[in-house]
Amino acid sequence: MVMKRYWKYIKPYLPAFICGPILMIVEVIGEVVLPKLMANIINNGAANQDVPYIIGTGFLMILVAILMMIGGVGAAYFGTRASVGFASDLRSDVFAKVQKFSFANLDKYNTGSLVTRLTNDITQVQNLINMSLRMMLRAPGMLIGALIMAFIMNRQLSLVILVVMPVLALLIGLVIRTAFPRFGIMQKKLDVLNATIQEMLINVRVIKSFVRGTYEEEKFARANEDLRDSGLSAFKIVILNMPIMMIVMNFTTLAVVWFGGKQILAGDMPVGDLTAFTTYIVQILSSLMMLAMIMLQSSRALASLNRIKEVLDTKVDLTDEESRFPDKKVENGKIEFRDVSFRYYKDNEQPVLSHINFSVESGTVLGIIGSTGSGKTTLVQMIPRLYDADEGEILVDGVNVKDYALHNLREGVGMVLQKNVLFSGSIMENLMWGDRYASDKEIKDAAQAAQADTFIEGFTEGYQTWLGQGGVNVSGGQKQRLCIARALLKKPKILILDDSTSAVDTATEAKIRESFTSTLKDTTKIIIAQRISSVMGADQIMVLDEGEIVGKGTHEELLQTCEAYREIYDSQMDKEVSAS
Ligand code: ADP
Repeated sequence: MVMKRYWKYIKPYLPAFICGPILMIVEVIGEVVLPKLMANIINNGAANQDVPYIIGTGFLMILVAILMMIGGVGAAYFGTRASVGFASDLRSDVFAKVQKFSFANLDKYNTGSLVTRLTNDITQVQNLINMSLRMMLRAPGMLIGALIMAFIMNRQLSLVILVVMPVLALLIGLVIRTAFPRFGIMQKKLDVLNATIQEMLINVRVIKSFVRGTYEEEKFARANEDLRDSGLSAFKIVILNMPIMMIVMNFTTLAVVWFGGKQILAGDMPVGDLTAFTTYIVQILSSLMMLAMIMLQSSRALASLNRIKEVLDTKVDLTDEESRFPDKKVENGKIEFRDVSFRYYKDNEQPVLSHINFSVESGTVLGIIGSTGSGKTTLVQMIPRLYDADEGEILVDGVNVKDYALHNLREGVGMVLQKNVLFSGSIMENLMWGDRYASDKEIKDAAQAAQADTFIEGFTEGYQTWLGQGGVNVSGGQKQRLCIARALLKKPKILILDDSTSAVDTATEAKIRESFTSTLKDTTKIIIAQRISSVMGADQIMVLDEGEIVGKGTHEELLQTCEAYREIYDSQMDKEVSAS
């Protein structure tokens, strides 16, 4: 089952997966043969003072050493190739999966954790593969080879090994069992650390302006210490491996020299065999050590693999697989909500939106107003299916949004989010997100409509001005206008502006609205705003309060019928009067 799942990452690198271990065997054979040749030199060559025999065997040993080197280097090369290839393909798939995640899916993972999974966790798996390819055959190969050679050489002395091996296996087993859960904890701490770093970097400006640097440093120090402690708690077990090994190895060698010495004195064993025998003991024990290391790395990689699997197995809860009209495009931009209710957390009692009913004719303007947290953003996010309704249905051009292919639906809906995001690149490149084939004229027109043209032209490099990450080098209002221009280039049938002119002055905002009436005549527009002046001219205004529609109509109608609207209106008029 596991194999089946990961086979597709092995297949492209199959030759490397096979060649690596084969070349490793060459090295192992050499390693096992060399001590025997050495023993021959001592027993036959040195004892009989047979110089040609010594030189001949010496040359043979050099040849074996060269072959071993070729095997070792080749195995390392193919091992790296296979493991890096495997990891990079796996990473691509995990990344692609995350891209498919719906907003609701993304809400469940924190970004730091996804970053760890995509980087460190995959590296753990890569290390395991690399290590396994080089040692998986080598360790048991050397173990078995050295055992056979030792038994052939001296059966009695080999009994020492039979006593030592189970003791060592038991000790190593204990180490692994203790370390495994600690690795899982360590990866979780790494998640926290990554999340902290990420939040800090993204919000570095806010942190500075609130002078929260020290607090952030403390937060980071805590996360860092946690990681250090969990790492120490895992690795202090792992490092026990080494002293255990050494002590066992030294005692075994001591025993072999003790018993072997006696045999030599009794004339039952040639001197050369004792040197070879001690080498075999070292080989046997170090191959056990290698096996232990593989198992340790496996336990670490397994903890990581589970975390990767969790991402790959996450059911994307918003897909277009069941869409009935996958080829249909948004043509008119008529919108209808039928009895729509929604909760972010399905076990919450209070819905974020309840029983929403309204319709917007194509080409008209709908204004939405209401206090923060009343559900305005949530409502409009359901039109391009960033979230799906729990109850009721949303229709665009008379067709349920779930029956569109996501691509076609989102292609038809332009949305300027509350949190405007620009990317590092030139202004031109950023605008072309809306339409990558847009001509210079189209780009200029869109910028004009969004009242962005004048300030762009004001920059020395105009449209080629470089924007830093997140658009740091333009003002909030300029950023908002660039984002509007970007959405306009999409020539959407439905344009949603979610509080996206909040940082633009009222006069400029009025000009943007004015230009919409001429450039976007046929586009359905939804404008979420805090200021009544932003929505006053809309064909229809909706007042939202705690997830319910409490008023619907034109500005004049609402002033007559909707108390909440009148309150907002009065409070804003008061402010304007006192401001002037
Ligand atoms: P508005 O746009 O009117 O300010 P929102 O639609 O953003 O309101 O939010 C409505 C409610 O939903 C708020 O109580 C808010 O806390 C909650 N909410 C918004 N986004 C999420 C989210 N991703 N996960 C959980 N709750 C959310």
